[in-house]
Amino acid sequence: MRLLRPYAEGIVRLFYPLLCKACGNEVFSADNQLCWQCHEALPYTGFEAHTDNPVRHLFTGRLHLEQAFSLLYFSKDSITQAIIHRFKYQGEQELARHMGRLMAQRMLLHPHWQQINALVPLPLNKRKLKQRGYNQAQLLAEGMSQVMQVPVHNTAVLRTRYTETQTRKTRLQRWLNVEHVFDIEQQHNLHQQHVVLVDDVITTGATMDAMGAVLQRVPGLRLSLASLAYASRI
Ligand SMILES: [Zn+2]
Repeated sequence: MRLLRPYAEGIVRLFYPLLCKACGNEVFSADNQLCWQCHEALPYTGFEAHTDNPVRHLFTGRLHLEQAFSLLYFSKDSITQAIIHRFKYQGEQELARHMGRLMAQRMLLHPHWQQINALVPLPLNKRKLKQRGYNQAQLLAEGMSQVMQVPVHNTAVLRTRYTETQTRKTRLQRWLNVEHVFDIEQQHNLHQQHVVLVDDVITTGATMDAMGAVLQRVPGLRLSLASLAYASRI
């Protein structure tokens, strides 16, 4: 029976091919979420290799960070936007884990990313979590965790109130809007740990600021940031 499985699978794929989650072309292995052309086209930042990079600069004077990293550049109508749209609004949860694995593979190539103790996804407020059914930052962290072999602390920080939409606000307004949103739950898990805060896109970094500031109240905690994408001009 086991011998027959590849043949049976081949026949099934003939009628129901696996399709690339970004462009819709056929992909040839069940664990591939993207076709090779789309993998080739990913706009990598290369930030993982440099402790001094634009994402880290964004937080200068705001958070004391060990490291900061985004895997891809984000721009309008880019493949990055298509990927994020698929896992954020169209239920492609495994695609988010796949992108998390890509993030971790790149990070682990460099010594400054090899001493991580825990991953903390940026939480969603309850209303959005109920609407979407999952937290995309948590899925990214789960993918990273599979490669890095470090735990994900989903409840380490709790989002305590609903924030109104961040668009059409100045940077200061955005900051004030999220400043008091987070509070720490189960902080004992994070004492003396090197923690990576994980999110899908970093734009102004205001949400990361608020959560990072709360995490840094934990004694001895060292903080780094990682996101799938970095939007340099929005
Ligand atoms: Zn593709």
